[in-house]
Amino acid sequence: SEGPLTPAAATAASASAASGQPPMLRARGVRKSFGSLEVLKGIDMDVGTGEVVVLLGPSGSGKSTFLRCINHLEAPDGGSIRVAGELIGYREHKGRVHHLRPREVTRQRRDIGMVFQHFNLFPHQTVLQNVIEAPVGVRRRPKAEAQERAHELLRRVGLSEKAGSYPRQLSGGQQQRVAIARALAMQPKLMLFDEPTSALDPELVGEVLETMRDLVRDGLTMVVVTHEIAFAREAADRVVFMDEGRVLESGPPSVLDRPSNPRTQAFLKRFL
Ligand code: ADP
Ligand code: MG
Repeated sequence: SEGPLTPAAATAASASAASGQPPMLRARGVRKSFGSLEVLKGIDMDVGTGEVVVLLGPSGSGKSTFLRCINHLEAPDGGSIRVAGELIGYREHKGRVHHLRPREVTRQRRDIGMVFQHFNLFPHQTVLQNVIEAPVGVRRRPKAEAQERAHELLRRVGLSEKAGSYPRQLSGGQQQRVAIARALAMQPKLMLFDEPTSALDPELVGEVLETMRDLVRDGLTMVVVTHEIAFAREAADRVVFMDEGRVLESGPPSVLDRPSNPRTQAFLKRFL
């Protein structure tokens, strides 16, 4: 079953496309269990620099857990994850690997931006304060510089006028765009989105997807978990289907029209 649309083939193709450089994300055999529940059963995935991968799959298939493993929110039980060539959670030294110390974990995490279904903005801070919090607090950037950059980012997500507003004064779509600006403020190498539009009223989904399309155009490296099939079709370089803790199928967005795996077919039928 090593046809052109298998995970292994797609992985190999994307890895060799990146001229000698390591891919931005390389996951190999990632496994994770919660008690006796095996949630990730060996996930392999490569995402090249500037590539956009949309991760699809039924609820409970392990998509969020996989993203959380990339971002140190969960520790895998097995396998390895590299971001920009660097092993996540471990330090390699003279042929041996050591667990990272907390400060080193913080350093790794700030290169990875994550946007969740629920925006988790700080409610008692203005939009601007939310966006400069991490650059000033974690990256120790001068406040004036962080503010200047924050205004730039708010312009980018179309919220220049809202810098002084509080989250509760914004719509869900606006709050999610602030959350995107906040993640971008750390200048991440890799952006992870976990169902960023799932909690939004339908009429607010479009503005968030439009912001994400802008990021795609800007060449950001992104892994996006979403059920927005139209977004996957137009914005993804590659789509990856997960089910029951495994990658079932992976390939260009045209896979959406001709899935080869019966479980992928069944999953996609729901969106037609
Ligand atoms: P998806 O994002 O694809 O819907 P998840 O990664 O959230 O899937 O969850 C996969 C499975 O792992 C589900 O059965 C979920 O209930 C379970 N799970 C996720 N996180 C935990 C946890 N912290 N403790 C126990 N079970 C969990
Ligand atoms: Mg999820």
